[in-house]
Amino acid sequence: MPRLLDRAMAGTVQLLPRRIVRRVSERYIAGETLADALATVRRLSAGGCLGTVDLLGEHVTSRQQPLATKAAYREAIQRLAEEKLPAGVSVKPTALGLAVDRDLCLQSLREVAAAAAQHGRFMRVDMEESHYTTSTLELVHELHADHANVGAVIQARLRRSPDDIEGLLRERISVRLCKGIYQEPPDVALQDFDQIRTAYLRLLDRLLEAGCYVGIATHDRWLAERSLEIVRHHGLGRHQYEFQMLMGVAEPLRRRLVTARHRVRVYVPYGGDWYAYSLRRLQENPQIATSIALSLIGRATVTSR
Ligand SMILES: Cc1cc2nc3c(=O)[nH]c(=O)nc-3n(C[C@H](O)[C@H](O)[C@H](O)COP(=O)(O)OP(=O)(O)OC[C@H]3O[C@@H](n4cnc5c(N)ncnc54)[C@H](O)[C@@H]3O)c2cc1C
Repeated sequence: MPRLLDRAMAGTVQLLPRRIVRRVSERYIAGETLADALATVRRLSAGGCLGTVDLLGEHVTSRQQPLATKAAYREAIQRLAEEKLPAGVSVKPTALGLAVDRDLCLQSLREVAAAAAQHGRFMRVDMEESHYTTSTLELVHELHADHANVGAVIQARLRRSPDDIEGLLRERISVRLCKGIYQEPPDVALQDFDQIRTAYLRLLDRLLEAGCYVGIATHDRWLAERSLEIVRHHGLGRHQYEFQMLMGVAEPLRRRLVTARHRVRVYVPYGGDWYAYSLRRLQENPQIATSIALSLIGRATVTSR
C-alpha cells in the first residue's frame, strides 16, 4: 500500500510549488554557478570519486542559448584542467540546439569536444527522448571520427539498443549504459522492470566481451552486483570499466563501491535551469514525493485550523 501511494505521488510532482521542488532537489544539484560545481567535484575527489559536470538546460529553442552553453562548457573544461580536478563533461544535444539546427549543434559539440581533448578531458553525449536517439548517435559517430575523447549513452530499455551498440563497438566508442529515464511507448521501449534489468545485463555482457570501456550507470544494488559478476567473468581490471551515479542518489552504494576500489564517477549538474532535471529526480524517488506531499497537506491542515 505505501508503495502504491508512493507511485501515485510520483506522478504528481509537477504540481508541487517551484520553491518546494527547488528546496528538496538541492541534494541532486551542485548549485547555480560553475564555482559550485567545482567545489562539488573537489569534495567528491577527496572522497575517492571522479566527476562528470553537466550544465543544466535542455530543449532550447533559440539560436543564442546554445552559444552561451558552449562558452560555459569551454570555461568549465578550462577550470577543471587548471585545478587538475578528475572530471570531464556531460552534454545534452538539445541544450546545444539539436531541436533548432542540427549543424549548429554539431559545430558546438565539436568545439566543446576539441576543448576537452586539448585539456585531456572526456565528453559524454547524454541520451534524451527516443525521437533524438538516431540523430544523437549520428552526432556521436561524427564527433568520434575526429575526437576519441567522445562517448555515447545507451538506454537499456530501448528495443533498438542491441543494434545500436554494434555500431558503437565497430568504432570502439565508449558507452555509458543506463536503464533510460524517459517514459517511452511499448513499441519503442520495454516497460517491465525485470525485463529492463535483463536487457541491461545482456547489453553489458556484449559490450564488455567486445572490449568496450563501459560506464555502468545505475543505483540499483541488485543490478550493480550482477554487473560486477559480469565484470569478473570477463576478468577485467579496475581501469577497464567504471560505475557512474548521480549526485545525491544512493550514496551508501557509492561508498561501498569506492571502498571496494572500483572506479566511481558522479554526475554533477549545475546551473540556473534546474527545474526539469529536479522533477525527473523527484519522480524517480517516490518516497520523497510522498513525504513532501504529506508535509504540505499537514501544513495546509495546520494553517486552516
Ligand atoms: C551517471 C548517470 C547518467 C545518466 N544519464 C542518463 C542519460 O543520458 N539518459 C537517460 O535516459 N538516463 C540517464 N540516467 C538515468 C538512468 O537511465 C535511470 O533513470 C536512473 O539511473 C534510475 O535507474 P537505476 O538503474 O538507478 O535503477 P532504479 O531501479 O530506478 O533505482 C535504483 C534505486 O535507486 C533509487 N533511486 C533512483 N533514483 C533516485 C533518486 N533520484 N533519488 C533517490 N533514490 C533514487 C531508487 O529508488 C531505487 O531504490 C543516468 C543515470 C546515471 C547514474
